[in-house]
Amino acid sequence: MRSNNTKHSPSRLYRLALNAILLLLTLGWLSAQTTSGTASSPGQAALPQAPPASSQVQSPAAPIAASKPLVIIDPAHGGTESGAVLNPAVLEKDVTLALALRLRGDLNARGIMAELVRDADVALSVDDRAAKANSEHPALYICLHATSQAGPMRIYSSMIGEGQENNGPFVDWDTAQSASLAASRSTQQQMVAALQKRGISIRALQAPLRPLNNVTTAAIGIELAPTKADVAELMSADYQENASAALANGVAAAVLPAAATSGALQ
Ligand SMILES: [Zn+2]
Repeated sequence: MRSNNTKHSPSRLYRLALNAILLLLTLGWLSAQTTSGTASSPGQAALPQAPPASSQVQSPAAPIAASKPLVIIDPAHGGTESGAVLNPAVLEKDVTLALALRLRGDLNARGIMAELVRDADVALSVDDRAAKANSEHPALYICLHATSQAGPMRIYSSMIGEGQENNGPFVDWDTAQSASLAASRSTQQQMVAALQKRGISIRALQAPLRPLNNVTTAAIGIELAPTKADVAELMSADYQENASAALANGVAAAVLPAAATSGALQ
């Protein structure tokens, strides 16, 4: 038996060794598969996929933020130039500034950026006001005035002729508005409709009101008027709140895409 065992043992040992080698090879192959498998999964997840996934979330937000229209609000008069003395206690420059500050907030609430030409009691020339507006390239420029005459609010567009020549890199200062006049008139009509919808009495006019002629973008003028004989109404919180919200709705209708204004604040 022993001799048999001894006789057979080399071939058994050989087979055992062969099996062991095969087993080791198999284990090695399996381990290589597992290693390459685990190495590839995080590679695929971490490399190209993660950044596109996050940029896809951000990219729709970025254009919306970048495409927010800008409106320049110009409270007429200021400083030593008080505008109309509506009554001894109510100066036009204060009425226009109060409304401008309120309108800025109401526009911001509707997703519209707004900047004021002046946010303090300072004097500025009409040329300075137009230059400031033109340098910002706004979607709309609005100047605010006020009168003591009771009646409808007035909304003005420039009276300049549409056929004025303004070609080339330089535009003539006095007719700078001509290229945007159609946009101004369209804005004027959209605002009239929005204000009337809110029950505000408003009248659309064309006037040689400076600096509308000098503004290179859509430009309108608003003249606030008391609904009754009492001009103090113009500074009252009720009047200002109502006028500002209505004007903001009108501006939103004019400068925002139609879909964005369907849910406009009322
Ligand atoms: Zn004025």
